[in-house]
Amino acid sequence: MKNKIEETTLHQNGLSRREFIGGSLAGLVSVGLPGRHRIYGSGSPASSKELKIKGYRTLGRTGFKVSDIGLGSGDMTDPALLEAVLDAGINYIDTAESYRRGSVEKAIGSVIKNRNRKSVFITTKLELQRDKSKEAFIERARKCLERLQTNYIDCLMIHKSETVEQLKTEGFHAAIRVLKAEGKVRFCGLSNHGSQMEDVSETMEKVHLAAAEDGRFDVALLVYNFLQRDMGEKILKAYKKKNIGATIMKTNPVLNYLEMKENADKLKEAGRKVPERLKNLISRLNARADQAEAFKNKYNLTNHNAIRDAAIKFVLSNPYVSSACPTIGNYSDLEAYVALSGTKFGFEERKKLVAYKTTFGEFYCRHACGECESSCPNGVPVNTIMRYNHYFKAQGRKKTAMFKYANFKQNKADRCFDCTGYCEEACPYGVPVQGLLVLAHMTLSPNFTDSTSLFGRIQS
Ligand code: SF4
Ligand code: SF4
Repeated sequence: MKNKIEETTLHQNGLSRREFIGGSLAGLVSVGLPGRHRIYGSGSPASSKELKIKGYRTLGRTGFKVSDIGLGSGDMTDPALLEAVLDAGINYIDTAESYRRGSVEKAIGSVIKNRNRKSVFITTKLELQRDKSKEAFIERARKCLERLQTNYIDCLMIHKSETVEQLKTEGFHAAIRVLKAEGKVRFCGLSNHGSQMEDVSETMEKVHLAAAEDGRFDVALLVYNFLQRDMGEKILKAYKKKNIGATIMKTNPVLNYLEMKENADKLKEAGRKVPERLKNLISRLNARADQAEAFKNKYNLTNHNAIRDAAIKFVLSNPYVSSACPTIGNYSDLEAYVALSGTKFGFEERKKLVAYKTTFGEFYCRHACGECESSCPNGVPVNTIMRYNHYFKAQGRKKTAMFKYANFKQNKADRCFDCTGYCEEACPYGVPVQGLLVLAHMTLSPNFTDSTSLFGRIQS
């Protein structure tokens, strides 16, 4: 009977074998899919009383007890969803000046002003722009305060500090001193998710370890997940030693590769050349079809989210993590993530992730890595493009991802179509990166099918 129900669930979810293959290669994260049921089925937030955070952890030397599941606010501009987030007991909010150009902070402010301010820890971030003077940072922080409609920011972070030198930016620290003295900022922090290849960049490990030693940082945001453990664990240990609160992004390293074959088919149908490396990638994926089927059956996977949930439990199983901050873009995300709060990472889940890693781990381009970038003769920032692709595919932030890619000043992955693929030789994880970059370019470029642009170039 059980199997029958599961089969039905599979069918209802429209999860065909082929989709599962794509999905299990990816964990098939169904973030933000239309039609998914909402936690508040009745339409009333009051009907969700049992949806509550169960785990709170100390955020390092701040002493604040934050929810083990925090809010990665990414594109969140819906005050009603934010109300639901807070009602569920999430009290760590990670946001940034740059998220939707201040609109996310504004949405947060519209809700926070009616709440007990002390019950919530708000972190916002400032990128290091051209004007690195103390005055410029102070002015920008004041604008954050206005948008957030609050008297103080709990933690002000340097957003995407790419080098050790950047995290020592004197104007920022001078501003922090002034703002702390005024009671406008309580703690100082940094985020880093690896290189963007602007000027000389350094690894996430190098930057975070230097931050741990620096002594001025109280809270950090880093990448850590089950496919990318070593660097994260080293950093987490260093932060623990200095009692620096660690919050985590990119908790879920899986992507949806389902469209790969379809995209290759589209190229063929259009009478265009399919790059050799992309062909290789597709055949590698096809070769995994049976393994994916076996994986699904062995672990009795009845929906797309089992791997994602296990991935977040893995992150929470590290006692040095204060809060995992996945992007919460809709009510389904909220429901799924809050349900993981306070849960244990069980033996079966561990086995599932080990098997996933063994079978499919090579298809994942590690966030914050960038080791292959120096081998690219075209200066393509592999890691950043793969991150935008992650925003699109895993976080459901399609517009943001496409906007960022469209406004990208560096070389894009159209360079990869007819390249020799030096980066693949340089990747220590065996990631078929050229094929993934080609697909990322197709995903992130709205006018990709315009025959006057890329197709035309490939044909020639
Ligand atoms: S392709 Fe490999 S080396 Fe390059 S960024 Fe990704 S994981 Fe790192
Ligand atoms: S495929 Fe070529 S152009 Fe693209 S990142 Fe790799 S080396 Fe650079």
